[in-house]
Amino acid sequence: MTPIDLRSDTVTRPTPAMLKAMSQAPLGDDVLGDDPSVIRLQERVAEIMGKPAACFVPTGTMANQTAIRAQTEPGDEVICHADSHIIHYETGSPAALSGVMIRPLTGERGQFSAAQVHEAFRAESIHAPRSAMLIVENTHNRGGGSVWSLDQVRDVTHAAREHGLRCHLDGARLWNACAATGHAPAAYAQHFDTISCCFSKGLGAPVGSVVAGDAKTIARVHRFRKMFGGTMRQSGVLAGACLHALDHHRERLAEDHANAKHLAAGLALIPGLSLEPAQRRVGVETNMVFIDLAPDLSMDAASLSRALKEEGVLMLPTAPRRLRAVCHLDVSRAAIDAAIAIIAKVVRAGLVPA
Ligand SMILES: *Cc1c(COP(=O)(O)O)cnc(C)c1O
Repeated sequence: MTPIDLRSDTVTRPTPAMLKAMSQAPLGDDVLGDDPSVIRLQERVAEIMGKPAACFVPTGTMANQTAIRAQTEPGDEVICHADSHIIHYETGSPAALSGVMIRPLTGERGQFSAAQVHEAFRAESIHAPRSAMLIVENTHNRGGGSVWSLDQVRDVTHAAREHGLRCHLDGARLWNACAATGHAPAAYAQHFDTISCCFSKGLGAPVGSVVAGDAKTIARVHRFRKMFGGTMRQSGVLAGACLHALDHHRERLAEDHANAKHLAAGLALIPGLSLEPAQRRVGVETNMVFIDLAPDLSMDAASLSRALKEEGVLMLPTAPRRLRAVCHLDVSRAAIDAAIAIIAKVVRAGLVPA
């Protein structure tokens, strides 16, 4: 039996319709700048974000890192949340590729306030690194798939602007934030100089991310994409998948969010498990569910994850006693119900009798 794979929304396989769109995408050579499908995707995303230009890149990491490289110089400081993807999952690339320092801010659910931005800013001084950039992640992955409100985004970016900082949105899952709030992507994007977004997560494409912004910055992003080895040839075959995802997989993200709420409600009833505290308080906001293991459960997250795998449910540990489940296009409501039953059985076996 194929496992119920809740490890990430990156595990989705292209649908038959997406594969067809890929096979029919008109192709050129994007290094020479004439792949029509890549050009179309860049134009579509620029329009959706309300920006003049965009650049197609292989990964969200490259999207973030080209944006950082394009808008900073070595020795600069980038302000972002301590739980950010760019700190935890991008192999130190801000330091390695751009030579910048990170100024991490703390706060619940991957979020912080305008006051914290003001406080983190360093006045110009011969001694200090130059504060150059603010990065906001929305939805925030380690923050629980949490959603920034437009007001919060406006407040922190206005604070950054007062000090002349560039503003970048790590919008790998901006599509989920928009599905959850009903806001258009451009409503968020208007507050940022550059925005990265992924097609390989909830939108279900096999590969692909885009950086959008002003023409001058995106020209630099193109240059650094080449420098970082990310400029591809007949990449329209991938852009074709992304275009298909934009047209067919955005609206359905609401299903993933409903499934995540359903999963969380089911898991919360299992003795030995509880929702992570912030999710218990504000609810499951998008497609991610974070589950904590009670002290009387004999297994830790790694061993529970292994035991679940034996039974056909895949979930990743994110802390010694915490597991993450992510809902996506390839898990139906029936699969979620099956997963809840399997998890209940495995956890029951691991509870130490009172
Ligand atoms: C997935 C993700 C990225 C980029 O990941 P890649 O695996 O490089 O495509 C960037 N930011 C966030 C918040 C993510 O979740």
